[in-house]
Order: sequence, then structure tokens, then C-alpha cells
Amino acid sequence: MSKMFRFLIFTFMLVFAGRALAQEAPDWTNPFPPYRIIGNIYYVGSQGLASYLITTPQGNILINSNLEKSVPMIRESIEKLGFRFSDTKILLISHAHWDHCAGSAAIKELTGAKYMVMDADVPAIEDGGKLNFGRDTKFSDSGVSQYQPAKVDRVLHDGDQVKLGDTVLTAHLTPGHTKGTTTWTMKVADGGKTYNVVIVGSPNVNPGYKLVNNALYPQIASDYERMFRVLKSLPCDVFLGAHGNYYGMEAKYARMKAGEPNPFIDPEGYKIYVAEREQTFRAELAKQTAAVQ
Ligand SMILES: [Zn+2]
Repeated sequence: MSKMFRFLIFTFMLVFAGRALAQEAPDWTNPFPPYRIIGNIYYVGSQGLASYLITTPQGNILINSNLEKSVPMIRESIEKLGFRFSDTKILLISHAHWDHCAGSAAIKELTGAKYMVMDADVPAIEDGGKLNFGRDTKFSDSGVSQYQPAKVDRVLHDGDQVKLGDTVLTAHLTPGHTKGTTTWTMKVADGGKTYNVVIVGSPNVNPGYKLVNNALYPQIASDYERMFRVLKSLPCDVFLGAHGNYYGMEAKYARMKAGEPNPFIDPEGYKIYVAEREQTFRAELAKQTAAVQ
């Protein structure tokens, strides 16, 4: 085999592996009807990728820009609800993975929204996600951008508040899945009552994540521990997250359509979910710890 041929094969493998790490699930691009979840919070995502529009008299906040090709779909969902895409003043994300942030550059450009991102996820957002610290494989530093880089307008720190109109969102650092994974909380008024809303960033250990001896992210396991402590400490009535499957979005939507009391008010479901995810994390950590001993 010639040197040139080997070089070409190697380059192809690097690029291919970089892409293979980021595979689209079919439900990510399936449209989903937009709807009001509760109070001033609306669902404007696809079947598999959650996006939330929070409306205020001073303009709107959008959480998660999803894939680049999701942007026209998000826009259409916002307009179907009777709001203006151009009223999007603030753009937030759950974490710096392409399925939640690849559309951000386009949304900033189209709406002029200010992009606010948790400090530890800012480098990934601004270089297009070249590194994937969780995995720590030989391909994780292949330099393949996963999405168009976007400039962050405000760097957030744990506990920072994002205010617009009468809405106050709090950014909770819940790291592990990425270094800056953010869980958003807010209070929402509906039917004369006030509810605590939690939008979970991600508690998941993805396939290939290295929890032990991870040179790119040495504190990954203790970050997951910290994240579970934070999630367990948050008061939650309305349980939401970065993917609908965290909280059974589709089934709850169907129950809402059938006229049931708001199924998104689910404090028990939140506790069960967090406990189950923590157990899964601990099992994976034990397995990886045993494998290196
Ligand atoms: Zn992710």
C-alpha cells in the first residue's frame, strides 16, 4: 500500500468517525404540533428535539436551537402559535451538543437574539464543537466541527439569572454530559397558581463516554455526581427537558389533548426519572471502574 493511499484512508476514517459520533435520530427531524405547555411556556420543537418558547411583553426567550435544518421548523412553530420569530430576544441552550445548538448561528443572524451560554460550554459553542470531552477517544480531537460556530453574547455562571419582561430563568450548572450542561428553572403562573418549572439539561452517559481516566475531562465522574445532587435539590412541579423522551412528552401531549388536568405537572415523574438516571450512571461507573482494575 502506498504512503499516499494509507494517508487517504486514515483521513477518511477520521472524518467518517467524527461524523459517526454525531448521528441523527429519525424523530429529531419529524415535525410536531406546537402547543402551550403551561402559562407563558410553549413547545416549538420537533418530535425528538425539544425547543421552548417563553413569551413576555418585552419579547421572547427561546431555549434550544436544535439542528441547523430545525431552524425553519422552529420558526414555523412560533408563527403558528401567533408569535413573531423576530421577537426572539434571548437564545439559550441545554448543552453544547449539535442536536441542541447547531441552529444557533442562524437564529442569531435571523432574529438578532442575544446568545447566553454557561461558561464551561462557551469554548465548544465558539469553535463548533470540535472536541467531545465526554468520549475521550482518539477521534474526539479530530478537529471536525459538528456545527457552525456562534459568538456568545453573555457568558453565564452557575446560579445566574436571565430576565426578560416578567420572566426570570435561573441557570444551574449540571455538568457531566458536557462541561457546561445547564438545567433551567423558572416559576410559571397558570390558573391562579404558581409552579416550579425544571428543564433538565441532560443526565445521560452517552455510549462511548469515558467516566474513568478521561484525560480530556478528568473530573467527569465527580461532575455527574454534582449534577445529580443539584437535580435532586431542585423543587419541581413542571418537568421538562432537552429531549421529549426524558419526560414522556408525546404521551403527555396526547393526555392534554384528551382534556386531562395538565399532565406536564408531574413532580413524582421528575423524582422517578432523576433516581433512575442516577442508578444508570452509577452502574456504568461501577462497570468502567471494574474494567480498569
Ligand atoms: Zn447531548
